[in-house]
Amino acid sequence: MKIKLHTKILIGLILGVIIGLVFGEKAKIIEPVGTIFLRLITMIVVPLVLISLMLGTASLGDLRKLGRIGLKTVAYFTVTTTIAISIGLFLANVVKPGEGLNEQVKAQLYANYQDKAEISIQRLEEKPSAIDILVGIVPTNPIKALIDGNMLQVIFLALLFGTVLTMIKKERADPLIKLLESMNDAVIQVVHIAMKLAPFGVMALIAAVIGQFGSEILITLLKYSLVVVGGLFLYTVGVNSLALGILARTNPLLFFKAVKEAMIVAFSTSSSNAALPISLECVEHIGVPRKYSSFVIPLGATINMDGTALYQGVSAVFIAQIYGIHLGIGGQITIVLMATLSSVGAAGVPTAGIITLAMVLKQIGIPLEGIALILGVERFLDMCRTTTNIIGDMACSVVIKKSEEKKST
Ligand code: ASP
Repeated sequence: MKIKLHTKILIGLILGVIIGLVFGEKAKIIEPVGTIFLRLITMIVVPLVLISLMLGTASLGDLRKLGRIGLKTVAYFTVTTTIAISIGLFLANVVKPGEGLNEQVKAQLYANYQDKAEISIQRLEEKPSAIDILVGIVPTNPIKALIDGNMLQVIFLALLFGTVLTMIKKERADPLIKLLESMNDAVIQVVHIAMKLAPFGVMALIAAVIGQFGSEILITLLKYSLVVVGGLFLYTVGVNSLALGILARTNPLLFFKAVKEAMIVAFSTSSSNAALPISLECVEHIGVPRKYSSFVIPLGATINMDGTALYQGVSAVFIAQIYGIHLGIGGQITIVLMATLSSVGAAGVPTAGIITLAMVLKQIGIPLEGIALILGVERFLDMCRTTTNIIGDMACSVVIKKSEEKKST
């Protein structure tokens, strides 16, 4: 009997949990297997996005169409992120996870995580402004953009060169398009090879995380963690299902079945970027062609962080509650605006959301040191919110495909 790949990856995940629990910190020995897998999928992200988005743009062949898809995508991401953070705020205000955390626990959390919190706060100082981010989308050196893996710049390059391919003479453009098609096939083949390694990679990554992770800290911060995870679950299943059902007339069950592999990879790597190649594969299973997914998903991995925004909403209220700071309606609205904006600035890499959380806290005057209180469960919550983030990107690609198809019929 042939076991399907997603079943193998799931078995890898379960084995990883068991190995982590049994061997504790010693499980770190197998981490290099996971790191190799992670490096392999990370390596392929830039060529994959560049080539498939160039081809996708060239096949759309129309700047207006591209502009329309861009606007719809950004609108979708903005609305869903706002809903996500509102759910986070609502739950945190009702459950009040920050009330009842005693002084002793608080002092201990500070003692253990203050140094790490300092690092995030320092990195906040280096964060560019919104205008800088916007201006920075245009690279001065295309090669440097690729080397740095600056995703917004790579997207810009691909859109630009894909578009100009439709503007030059067809007989000049065709050889290049053919070459790109061959390169695209080759790159996708690398993704397939990486996927074969996924069960082992996932097992090793999860074993190392579980082995290092103290369950006591999870118990200390249980109420807070449950609010975040519960909110993410509610949002991920509820809002995405509604969007898929209403906007894309797609059965959410079929969708979740198709994207399982990407979910597990996002969960075990805590990185939307690393999961990107697998996300592109998965949506193909439910009929989203590359010409849409190669635009929506890389853009989403970079600017759409609905899970992160929800997490930031809960965390900001949690920290405020611990410090006894009352957040009025104005404070809450500021959180919605800031978290929506800052999620655009968060890169799709592990713990990026912590730096942008510092931005949100600063804006509403909550002490930044409060971050030390939640760092103990950061890795676990990062795994969960990253999964939500990429599901949002993939759901958006289905919605966009549907609405574009409607337009052309
Ligand atoms: N790790 C998240 C992602 O890659 C970003 C975050 O830290 O919230 O989507």
